[in-house]
Amino acid sequence: MMRQKLLVFLLLGLSIFGACTSGHRLGVRYLDRGRLRTETIPTDFIDARGGIVSPHIRSVKFSRLDSVDFPGNNPDRMKIHSTAIELDFTRPIARYSPEYYTAYTVHHVEKAIAYYNGLFEGRIDFNALEDYRDLEVMFGDVPLFSSPKTFIFEAGSNPSPSLFFHEVGHRAFWYLEGEWPKVRFGGLSYIHMGLLEYFTVSLNDSPVVGEDFLPVKTIRNASWLYPYPAPDSLRLGTTMSLLAESYPEAMRDPQSIVYRYWRATTETYKDFLDRAVDNHRGGMIVTSTLWRIREQLGRALTDRLVAQAILTLCIYYYALPRVCFCITRLSKIKDF
Ligand SMILES: [Zn+2]
Repeated sequence: MMRQKLLVFLLLGLSIFGACTSGHRLGVRYLDRGRLRTETIPTDFIDARGGIVSPHIRSVKFSRLDSVDFPGNNPDRMKIHSTAIELDFTRPIARYSPEYYTAYTVHHVEKAIAYYNGLFEGRIDFNALEDYRDLEVMFGDVPLFSSPKTFIFEAGSNPSPSLFFHEVGHRAFWYLEGEWPKVRFGGLSYIHMGLLEYFTVSLNDSPVVGEDFLPVKTIRNASWLYPYPAPDSLRLGTTMSLLAESYPEAMRDPQSIVYRYWRATTETYKDFLDRAVDNHRGGMIVTSTLWRIREQLGRALTDRLVAQAILTLCIYYYALPRVCFCITRLSKIKDF
């Protein structure tokens, strides 16, 4: 009997810790089109001393979110304050622990970088934007404020990998726009958003973006029809209304992060709420079109088509001055 009790105790212990990690692998869970999926991911980026070794990540810190400020009531200058939590990768990783979410983040950031490197022939230097090599992972109740540098998780949540693919997509497109080949998408325009989100949904092999990290009403889905030109439902004002409807309690508390963000955005952009298209939701006009093409042509061909279209856009931009130069020279020689 005693032996049986000991066995039950051991099995229980294993189900809490051991079930998650096995050698250099970790069992993770995430939502995929409403269903909770389980996947085993490699964790070979953790070395024997419990450090994280990655070609694109210099450091990862974990913390608990304490508060968020919006200096000057500007929603784009968000400042997050948090308290550090020590990570210990020398022990088995318990599900939903800080180590679990950190490993989940590192794996998917690397996966997205490898995907972009393959499609863009290694021409995007992910280490060029130095700041993004130091990642922050944290527990907090506002995962919608995650960014390419800071990933916020609600404790016990099962966010879709689209979170990481989207954020790494920003990094890729900032490089393409700013460093090389300097494709002018107009900053964070909805062309930028729509093209990067195609790669998000294609890599995730699911048209849904945002499960278990965006408010349900703001989840995006490339299998829906997003008409062009953008209807009023895709304007910034509608997004802010959907945000307010998603957090009825927080909207009654003037000190809550969501309320202060909502107020900062609606006040700062009051002249644009009814005119400007929300880039994240408006980008789905492009993404959903490409998703429908992907359904016809398949993933490999469409991925390559979209990547090559972006890379080739600049041939005309850079070739034009040379063509003009040649025509000028020829006109002088041939006198035409
Ligand atoms: Zn974004």
